[in-house]
Amino acid sequence: MAEQVRTLELFIDGRFRPAADGRTFDSIDPSTGAVIARCARAGSRDAGDAVAAARRAFDSGPWPRMSGAERAELLKAVSGRINDRSSELEQLEIADSGSTLRKVKEDVKLSARAMYYFSKLAAGEFSSPVDGLSKPGFSRNVLVREPVGVVAAITPWNFPLKMAVWKLGPALAAGNTVVLKPSELTPVTAMELAAMFREVGFPPGAVNIIPGFGEDAGAALVSDPRVDMVAFTGSTAVGRSIMSSAAATLKKCTLECGGKSANIVLEDADIPMAVDGALYAVYYHQGQCCEAGTRLLLPDSIHDRFVSEMVSKIAKMKIGDPRDPSTEIGPVVSAAQRDKILQYIKSGIEQGAKVVTGGGTPDVPAAKNGFYVEPTLFTGVRNDMKIAREEIFGPVLSVLRYGDVEEAVAIANDSDYGLGAGVWSADTEKAVGIGKRLRAGTVWINEWHLMSEKAPFGGYKQSGIGRELGLEGLHEYMETKHMHIDEVGAREKKFWYDVVVPKSS
Ligand code: NAD
Repeated sequence: MAEQVRTLELFIDGRFRPAADGRTFDSIDPSTGAVIARCARAGSRDAGDAVAAARRAFDSGPWPRMSGAERAELLKAVSGRINDRSSELEQLEIADSGSTLRKVKEDVKLSARAMYYFSKLAAGEFSSPVDGLSKPGFSRNVLVREPVGVVAAITPWNFPLKMAVWKLGPALAAGNTVVLKPSELTPVTAMELAAMFREVGFPPGAVNIIPGFGEDAGAALVSDPRVDMVAFTGSTAVGRSIMSSAAATLKKCTLECGGKSANIVLEDADIPMAVDGALYAVYYHQGQCCEAGTRLLLPDSIHDRFVSEMVSKIAKMKIGDPRDPSTEIGPVVSAAQRDKILQYIKSGIEQGAKVVTGGGTPDVPAAKNGFYVEPTLFTGVRNDMKIAREEIFGPVLSVLRYGDVEEAVAIANDSDYGLGAGVWSADTEKAVGIGKRLRAGTVWINEWHLMSEKAPFGGYKQSGIGRELGLEGLHEYMETKHMHIDEVGAREKKFWYDVVVPKSS
């Protein structure tokens, strides 16, 4: 039976409405190719309306003026709604993004948890004394953290709900007002969030959610002078263009971009565990993760055995319907993404790498109408090949050989990206020592993908600027103010001081 096509509208200034020019776009279920939602398509006028609403809400509305405890209550209520409606959100997210059931079960719970975590931070203390500066009778020095203002949040399609929460949670906890533009490929769960914000009683304009395309709604948000900050997650190419457009009005930017993460297995690693870990690192969510372990670095001594164990496990992976709880490999997000991945596979072959398994679309019933790519493993990859340098964002692993640890570290760091990295070894301290030498924002030792809302996540080099999650993530959405409070008193005051330099020896 055909599923009902949902109708989605823009959420601006506390109410749902169509796009000003009446345009819409369709959201497609990647596992079937069927239309699941018809969505209002925000254009530049709608983006302008949403920014105006967020600006009013920031400049004169209640949200930034509420106490932290009051903001915390409302954020906590949204967390509760996400949790209460988790089964429904899971199904919507599967239909919209093609994520497997096992993945979305985690995503929805992690979204509720992240919103809860940021509600706790909202209730915390945002001012503190400046260390070592205050002197009774002379001055008091206070550091005050304040919201940046109006935040334009722009998110990708690979973790639609979680990415939205990772921006809305800290931005709102800090007291900002927000316009969120979800990816045009996956607008559905963001609009469910909009309904939740309204139901729990967020003031109009504090949160605005406008599905639409990057080139019109997204670009309009980034160039709008009334926006104070852009919080972006997506590709490095778009991150670059956002940074350059935001430069015109010197907006604060956080950019969470792409990756080409190196996964180093040492000779002494527990091989069965490292094989499972390497498979999980790259094929989880069909490789559509910024932090995916897409470059596997193996020492010559274990290379053949390791690859052969991986290949026999890949052969047993269940590919198909993402709603089936036993499915390990679901569809990729779109036909265009599938074709882009297949082009990368072609380029790997042309440049001389060897496809050991996969390389095409799988022979499963779901692939008839859905967008599927086989889990693919290349050996004989050199680090200067396209498949080792560029982010493919699909289930494609490049295996590279190394002779000694020095060479492994050099190959790992020889990348434009620096998002994730990993080391597998029985000697944890040795692995930690190697991990410290890797130029990446997250390093896993004998693990992969594990993240927490309490720990910062982000990239070195062209993987991004700034951090998401944790206290660092909250502080990205805040300005830091130093208040110097004079305690000398006007009568004895002099405005010039003798500067004393501490002795250096
Ligand atoms: P994308 O860059 O194509 O799009 C991301 C978002 O930017 C979308 O909402 C899109 O509409 C918008 N956009 C596009 N052009 C724009 C413009 N000119 N101005 C304003 N907005 C614009 O990325 P994608 O294909 O949706 O997502 C995949 C990418 O996201 C991968 O590169 C992946 O590594 C990255 N990603 C990074 C992280 C991280 O935390 N570092 C997390 C998830 C995904």
